[in-house]
Amino acid sequence: MRIIRFFNPNNKNGLFTFIRPYSATPVNRLAAVSHDTTKPLSVADISIYADGHVRNDWTKQEIKSIYESPIMSLLYYGAKIHRRYHDPLAVQQCTLLSIKTGGCSEDCAYCPQSSKYKTPVKATKLLDSDNVLTAARNAKKAGSTRFCMGAAWRDLNGRKSNFNKILEYVKEIRAMDMEVCCTLGMLNEAQAKALKDAGLTAYNHNLDTSREFYSKIITTRTYDERLQTISNVQDAGISVCSGGIIGLGETPEDRVNMLHTLATFVLHPESVPINALVQVEGTPLEKQEVLFLIH
Ligand code: SF4
Repeated sequence: MRIIRFFNPNNKNGLFTFIRPYSATPVNRLAAVSHDTTKPLSVADISIYADGHVRNDWTKQEIKSIYESPIMSLLYYGAKIHRRYHDPLAVQQCTLLSIKTGGCSEDCAYCPQSSKYKTPVKATKLLDSDNVLTAARNAKKAGSTRFCMGAAWRDLNGRKSNFNKILEYVKEIRAMDMEVCCTLGMLNEAQAKALKDAGLTAYNHNLDTSREFYSKIITTRTYDERLQTISNVQDAGISVCSGGIIGLGETPEDRVNMLHTLATFVLHPESVPINALVQVEGTPLEKQEVLFLIH
């Protein structure tokens, strides 16, 4: 499942609504039969990736071939597979609330919430129950069926009281008959299990970029720490939402490498958000060239 989201960190109220293709079952991945990977694919050849079987043994060359395919072929074959498994017109509306904004100890070069950079974002404490639950009720009234809560911090260690509050928020929002997603930084096994027990539907933890380019963007946590959190979430039985950001200065090869990491997980993420960088004043990437999504 691929989602393109435009995340605007300058948004003042911390509330975002977005839609995602609805998937009741996570089985809509591109698939392939064996072929000679030394030859470039013609447009017609791309169809060999569209037989609908889930694969975890993708080569980088195969992914590069798909990445370099003409956009109309990608749309055509992607839509064919999607239609095989899902109602093509069904989408899910989700609302995302920043429940704790700014003041983060991490140094993600794109992020105005990092305390390392002087940006317009003001640090706040964790929102209280009234604010969070009212936002969830309003989201439901507005048609959202999933409510996502994001907190700007490295991990939950030393935040027991805040974590307990978040577990209560998850339970209360599930009781409203909504799906619940969180993004709270790194999780250990016990924390992932506690979120599962509270009823959490999905957890967002992005790879951000390729392993090779990663150190140019973040130095305060490792790529393997990210993978470990994703593994802890999957082991707890929670759906994973994991993708990245394009336009950070990465090469096309970096994008292929990030997709290769995601596509070779034993269990694929249920959602793969692909965000485009929004340049924010005060961050190291404020002057990064604007990305043109379609060339
Ligand atoms: S961990 Fe999240 S909130 Fe913190 S700096 Fe990185 S992207 Fe921003």
